Order: sequence, then structure tokens, then C-alpha cells
Amino acid sequence: MGQVVVISTGGTIASRWQGSGFAADARGGDVLATAAVPDGVTVRVVDLMSVNSARLTTRDQLALLRAVHEVLADPAVDGIVVTHGTDTLEESAFLLDLHHDDPRPVVFTGAQRPLEAPDGDGPRNLRDALLTASAEATRGLGVLVVFDGQAHAARGTIKVRTLAADAFADPSGSPIADVKDGRVLVRRRPERPEPLPLPPAAGALPRVDIVMHHCDADPLLFDAAVEAGAQGIALVATGAGNATPEVAAAVGAAVSRGVLVALTTRVPEGPVAEIYTQGGAVDLAAAGAVLTGTLRAGQARIAVLSAVLSSADPAERTRLLRHALGSTEAATV
Ligand code: ASP
Repeated sequence: MGQVVVISTGGTIASRWQGSGFAADARGGDVLATAAVPDGVTVRVVDLMSVNSARLTTRDQLALLRAVHEVLADPAVDGIVVTHGTDTLEESAFLLDLHHDDPRPVVFTGAQRPLEAPDGDGPRNLRDALLTASAEATRGLGVLVVFDGQAHAARGTIKVRTLAADAFADPSGSPIADVKDGRVLVRRRPERPEPLPLPPAAGALPRVDIVMHHCDADPLLFDAAVEAGAQGIALVATGAGNATPEVAAAVGAAVSRGVLVALTTRVPEGPVAEIYTQGGAVDLAAAGAVLTGTLRAGQARIAVLSAVLSSADPAERTRLLRHALGSTEAATV
């Protein structure tokens, strides 16, 4: 038990009625006031921003990453809670996990029901997150997502339900811990590659796009992303990672121009795999796309973003992406 810093970024947990719909506008102190702070825990609030998470930019996410590192420079801090909109929580949490080089936990949470809802889920989620961030048992587990009584590893976890309270899961894995009756029961340790160094503070931020394949899709939108200056693209293919010969040719052309291409799938669960040709993952991989295992679109894009931010060299970017994915062939950063 000890000192936890809550970094407040907005989301439904900080949302109030605006006359036509809900939007984040509350400060972190108002959000914290809804939750029962566990015995023995002291809390300090950092108000970073208050926005709906669909509006977050790379600049905002890097500000959050730096804020976490600044807070952890204080050895008196035992853990961090980030309150965040659920829509893109999986992206920010994974970005932080890729660069998290500290045994102390960073715990993301939020809510499906707004700040002042009488039966809201925010107060319980925030209390569970405070408990998780201050528990000795969560040291070394990296960045976690605490929601509806469970703690999930950032890597692989996605928003799986638009409205229900159990909004998050790793469809290809299992939770890390249960948070129940005021206790955190750790079930397993997540697999995490060595963290990447913090991205440089200065410099222009790269464009990294997501393009989805579907019946009748041609490479027009993929090519448009390249023309728009994308330095990386996450291609969301069908099935185990399949598209068309035309898309495979477009991937090859983009890779030869230095664009980092990651291959993921529209399917919720299971890895992408090199099985099919004639535009399938066999050909997309041969064209230079990097298969992203069980990462889904938002997190595949974040892995590409981190690699692109970390180096200007296309070969090095590919190596860093493979490292971020946990590939053993690129074990050192
Ligand atoms: N619109 C919200 C967001 O900021 C949704 C939520 O927080 O649950 O992501």
C-alpha cells in the first residue's frame, strides 16, 4: 500500500451531459471524488487533459507517455492509474507498455457510464485500479487495464463490448488478475519484450494509417495512404491475414519506398498466419508486410508507430517492429 498518482485524461469516466450528448469535461479531482480510496493508499492527481478518447492524437499519447515517466522519476510513487476513454484505451495502454521500463505498474481504467450516473461503473473501476496500482503483487507486470473486476495485460487487450460493463478482454488470451473483495489475485504474468527506449522528444510526428480489406476492395485506399505520406500502415486483412494479388503488389511497392507495413486481421481472435497465396498472407509477407501475431488493428498500428518513432532507417524500423511484437529473431533493442 502506498502512494498512487492518478493521471486524468478524460473519457466517459469524466463525462457530463452537454445538452446534446455526453463529453469529457471533468477534472481528475472530480473523478477521484467518486471513488472510495483503499485504506492505506494516498493519491495525487495530475490533470493532463479532459477529452473523449476518439479525439486523441499521437502528440497527446506521447505527452501521456512522458507524464508517466516524469511521475515515476519520484521513488516515493508506488504506481500510476491513468483514467482514459475506453474507445482508444487499448492504443494508449499498449504504447505505454512498449516503452515501460519500470517495475511499478501503470493501470488504465475508465467507465462505460458517465461521471454522474447513479449506477455508474466508474467508481468501482477506479477503486479497483487504485488497489491494483498499489499492490505489491502487480510489480513487474507492465501496463495493465483494470475493468469490471479484472486486470488485463495491455498487450492484446481490446475493447470487445460497446456498452456492457465488461468492456475489455484479450480474445486470444486470459486475464492477468482478478480484483475482488478488496484484493488483487494475480493469475499469470504477461509476456513482454524488452522495452523500447522513449521516442525522441522533438521532431515532426509521422503519419501511420490503418487500411481495411473487404470484398471488392482494390488498393486505392492503401495507395492513398502512401501518397498522403504514411510512414507506416497497418493492413487489416480478412481471415488469417489475406487480401488480393493487387493489394500484395501495392504492399511490395510501398515497402520498396520505405513504408513499414504490418499485417493484422478483422477476425477478433487468433494469430495471422502464412497459409494462402494469390494475395494471401504468404504473398503479403513476401511483399514485406510484417505479421503481427494476435495484435488487432489499433495495437498493430501502435507497434508500427513506435518503430517509426524510434528510427529513420527502414530496415531498423522493421527490426524494431519485430522486436515490439516479441519476435525472438530481434531480441535486443
Ligand atoms: N467516448 C468515450 C471515450 O472517451 C467512451 C468511453 O470512455 O467509454 O472513449
